[in-house]
Amino acid sequence: MKVRFLGAARGVTGSCYMMEANGQRFAVDCGLHQGNSEIEKRNWNVKVYSPDKLDFILITHAHIDHCGLLPRLVREGFSGRVFATPPTIDLLEIMLKDSAYIQEMEAEWKSKQQTRHGNTPADPLYTQADVERALRLVTHVEYNEEFLPCPGVQTLFKDAGHILGSSIIELRIFEEKDKKVKLVFSGDLGRPNQLLMRNPSYSEVADFLFLESTYGNRDHKDEDQSREELLQAVNFSFQHGQKVIIPAFALERTQEVLFSLYLLHREGRLPDDMPIFLDSPLAIRATQIFSKHYRYFDSKTRNFFTTGEDPLRLPGLRLTESPRDSMSINSYKGPAIIISASGMANAGRVKHHLRHNIWKKGASIVFVGFQAKGTPGRKIVDGAKMIRILGEELAVKARVFTINGFSAHAGQSQILEWLSYFQNHGMKIFLTHGEYENQQILANLIREKFDHEVHIPDYLEECILKTGRRFEARFDPKRELFKVNWDYVFSDLENKLQLLRKNQGQLSRMGWSDQVDIRDETLEAGTILSKVIASVNSEDVKEDEQTENK
Ligand SMILES: [Zn+2]
Ligand SMILES: [Zn+2]
Repeated sequence: MKVRFLGAARGVTGSCYMMEANGQRFAVDCGLHQGNSEIEKRNWNVKVYSPDKLDFILITHAHIDHCGLLPRLVREGFSGRVFATPPTIDLLEIMLKDSAYIQEMEAEWKSKQQTRHGNTPADPLYTQADVERALRLVTHVEYNEEFLPCPGVQTLFKDAGHILGSSIIELRIFEEKDKKVKLVFSGDLGRPNQLLMRNPSYSEVADFLFLESTYGNRDHKDEDQSREELLQAVNFSFQHGQKVIIPAFALERTQEVLFSLYLLHREGRLPDDMPIFLDSPLAIRATQIFSKHYRYFDSKTRNFFTTGEDPLRLPGLRLTESPRDSMSINSYKGPAIIISASGMANAGRVKHHLRHNIWKKGASIVFVGFQAKGTPGRKIVDGAKMIRILGEELAVKARVFTINGFSAHAGQSQILEWLSYFQNHGMKIFLTHGEYENQQILANLIREKFDHEVHIPDYLEECILKTGRRFEARFDPKRELFKVNWDYVFSDLENKLQLLRKNQGQLSRMGWSDQVDIRDETLEAGTILSKVIASVNSEDVKEDEQTENK
C-alpha cells in the first residue's frame, strides 16, 4: 500500500493524499494550491495526479483547499466517483461554482492583456461546465455508515466538527490475506465547543494516522470572550452612530458570527435599531445550506431549529444579493453591522465598505479570522496608519478589533487531547496541513507525551505502508525541481552588479539627466533588496503571534 503527499505537506493548502491499495488508485481530498506563484503552478500541471487513472476520490469537507482542484481533475480526465456527506455536497456546489467564476474572470483578464501583446488568449483553470461535470460524479455518504467504494477498502466518515459536513475518514484496508491495516485521516479537525458544530468524533485505533497541524504551535486565546468582544465593537459603533464592518469568510465564519449576534439579540443585548447586512452572495447561499442541514449541528443549535426558530436569520438581518442592494448600504444613514467577504479584505465587496468607513473615527472593523501576510487585513491588524484600498490611500481611524475565538481548527492542546483517545500504542503519525516550524513543535510534543512515531512528509514524498505499522519513505527525484536554486540567484545578481561597475566610466560620461534616471533605478533595485533582507530577518518573529495582537 502506498501514499503520496500531493499537497498540504509542510504547508497548508492543496490537501491531497494519493493512495494505492488493493489495485486501486484513489485520493483523499484534492484541494486547490494557494500561495506563491510556484505553489499555484501545481494547479495547472496535474499530471502527477494521473487523473485518468484515478478510481475515486473521498472529500473530507468543502473548503476550497480540500476540494478546489476537483473540476481541474475532471477537465483532465477523471471520471470516477466522488464521495462526501450530504452537506458537503451542497456546499461543494456553491464553493466550486464560485471558484470557477474566479478562474474564468482571471482568464478573461489575462486574455485581454495577452491578446494586446499579440499572444493567444489564456485558458481558465476550469469552467462552470467542468464544475457541472464534477458534480455529476458525486455520491452521498452518511456519517458512521461504513461503505465500500471499491472491494477491500472499508470506509467510514465521522463528524470532524470543523465546518458543516466536515469529516474524519477511517479506512480499513485488506493488505494481505486476513490482515487489515487501519488508516485515519483527521481532515481539518474542529475545535471542541465551537458554535453550531458538534465536537470532533474520536477514533480509538489506527495503524497510520494522517493528522492536521494548522495550530500545532499554539492554543487559541480567549475562546469564551469572542461574543463579548463582538458586542463591544457593536456598542462602540452604535454609540457613535457608525458602522461595524466584519470581513468574514463565506463558509462557517459568517454563520458563527450570525449565530453569535442571534444569541446577543436573544439576551436583549443587541441594539434593536441597528440592521445587520449580510453582503455576500456566496455567504448568503452558504447560510441557507447551513439552515437546511440543521440536523448536523450540536444539540443546542438543533433545538432552536426544531422549535421553529432559525438562529441564522435574526430579526433585522438584511440579505443584499445584487450589486445594487450592496451599494445602497453606503447610503444607509445610522449605525449598522455589515458582514461581507472576503475575510482578509483582499477581494470582494468588503473593500467598498472599508473605503467608506475605515477613515471614520466611530466605525469599527472586526477581524474574525486568520490574516495572511501581505493582505490588507493583516496590515490593518498590524496597526497600519494608512492603507491602500481600491486605489485610494485611506487613513485608518476606525477602531480595529481582532477576535480569535472563532477558529474552526483545534488548537495545540486540543489536538493532543484528541490524540489521547487512541487506545493503541506505537502509531505512525504523519503530520500534514501546517507550516513546517509549527509541525516540528507539535511533533516534539507528541513524542514527549505518547509513544507514537511522528513523521513530517514533504511535498511529493511517497511512503510505502506495511503491516505491523512499518513504513518506508521514498523521495521523488523530481522533488529537487521544487527547490529554489539560491546559488544561481545570488551569482546572477553578483554578475550583474559587477557588469554595472565595469561600465561605471561609461555611465559617468552619459548626460546628467540620463545618469539620474539610471541612478534612481539602481537605487530602487537596492530598496527591493533591503526589503528582501528585512523579510528574511523577520522570519524569526512568529507570524501567528502577530495576528493575535490586540
Ligand atoms: Zn477546512
Ligand atoms: Zn484545510
